[in-house]
Amino acid sequence: MNIKSKLTFAIGILVAMIVLLVVLSVANLQILTATEPDSPAAGPGLERALIWIIVIGAVCICIGVGMLFKLPASINRPIKQLTDGILEIANHHYEVSLNLTDSEELMEVSKNFNRMARRLSDYHNSTLSELLASKRYMETIINSINEPIIGLDNDRRILFINDEALNILGLKREQTIKQLAEEVSMTNDLLRRLVRGLLEKGKNNEVGGKKEPLKIYANNKECYFQVKYVEITMKATDGITMEKGGDVIMLKNITEFRELDTAKTTFISTISHELKTPISAILMSLQLLNDKRIGKLNEEQADLSQSIKENSERLLNITGELLNMTQVESGKLQLKPKITKPIELIEYAIKANRVQAEKFGIQIEVEYPEDGKIGKLFVDSEKIAWVLTNLLSNAIRYSAENGRVIISARQVDEKHIEMSVQDFGKGIDPRYHKSIFDHYFRVPGTKVQGSGLGLSISRDFVEAHNGTLNVQSELGKGSIFTIRLNS
Ligand code: ADP
Repeated sequence: MNIKSKLTFAIGILVAMIVLLVVLSVANLQILTATEPDSPAAGPGLERALIWIIVIGAVCICIGVGMLFKLPASINRPIKQLTDGILEIANHHYEVSLNLTDSEELMEVSKNFNRMARRLSDYHNSTLSELLASKRYMETIINSINEPIIGLDNDRRILFINDEALNILGLKREQTIKQLAEEVSMTNDLLRRLVRGLLEKGKNNEVGGKKEPLKIYANNKECYFQVKYVEITMKATDGITMEKGGDVIMLKNITEFRELDTAKTTFISTISHELKTPISAILMSLQLLNDKRIGKLNEEQADLSQSIKENSERLLNITGELLNMTQVESGKLQLKPKITKPIELIEYAIKANRVQAEKFGIQIEVEYPEDGKIGKLFVDSEKIAWVLTNLLSNAIRYSAENGRVIISARQVDEKHIEMSVQDFGKGIDPRYHKSIFDHYFRVPGTKVQGSGLGLSISRDFVEAHNGTLNVQSELGKGSIFTIRLNS
């Protein structure tokens, strides 16, 4: 029976009862009006009518009270079951099933509800299994990467870590997944270095702007890794704004490259060293050849010997630069600092470049404060003199003929002294201000001969003294190279 017929039936019974009560009351009244109330004929009729009224009244009240409790309950019960079912679905318990048999409509509702729950359950199971499958797929990909990789969320909880990372960290998967990296790193030195690096975002491994590789003992040998910290940004729940989702720590095994690099450095070092002696011998022989005591050279021979001399000097310069570079690269650079006056370094550089300056008609000007207004340096004078010589040589070579070059020194503050070499030559395009300090880099289109090593070695030498070497330059106006050192 549906709710409508239930209500109609209940109201029908009540109406029928009330009609019966009214009929009986009317009959009672008629008996009272038709007979004398005190006559013996009226007595039994009245009594019967009263009994009927009481009985029917009582039945009416019972039915009314029964309906008062039963009807709302019979309507509320299925609604409650339905509400509970909806709540279960909202809580992702899709196994819920309703069995409302109270009425046809409710049976229909429960049938539809159960069908919806089954569909949702199927959908949930399929998306869950798809998600699990993609998760497994992602894990397989991450594991197949043979470089260590660690993924962290915003609280630095380890989300994923591949076998290679577990191997170099010497950890087991269950010790890491969903654990706070800081907590795990308490007992793991390498992870601690990585987390510290992440917190300082690379500063930790950067020395003088260059990333120092991480030395790790793995696979029974010393390995070198380049660490990269990648911040993961993704779309927020609004689908528009981007927010940080965590970080990924990636390590690249560069041991092989490092070994090759060391082999290259050793090779260059040996070759340059071996070349120095014969070149010096050539220069020595040339000097003897030019000595009039051995015999006068004719003009052509003198030209040839001059050309051999210039080229041998260039070769000697290059081998010297290569040797310096290998010293820095192999970490064998040893400084022998001593107290030095900046003017001594300047004079050395000028002396070393005098012939070249005269050749190009370049006038070298010195700007130097009076004694007492500039302090002394505690540096490896040979190295810093080499740097100044190289900067001055560049200034001369990259200036137009008959130009001028200024070499200067000044006390910047109590603790710092700056030495600069300024030229008014062709200048350097701002695009190359960084790259000119890289090994072998030469500004495209540079016609003057050179190796592209001078500035990179100069910067290494200055940085080895905890100093800086910078450039300010404008195309067509010239350049200033400035060395800043502690006084
Ligand atoms: P090299 O001079 O032997 O090529 P460097 O390392 O000394 O090597 O210089 C790198 C490059 O920077 C040069 O090739 C040149 O293009 C540019 N450069 C250096 N100094 C100057 C300068 N004073 N003026 C213009 N360009 C310069």
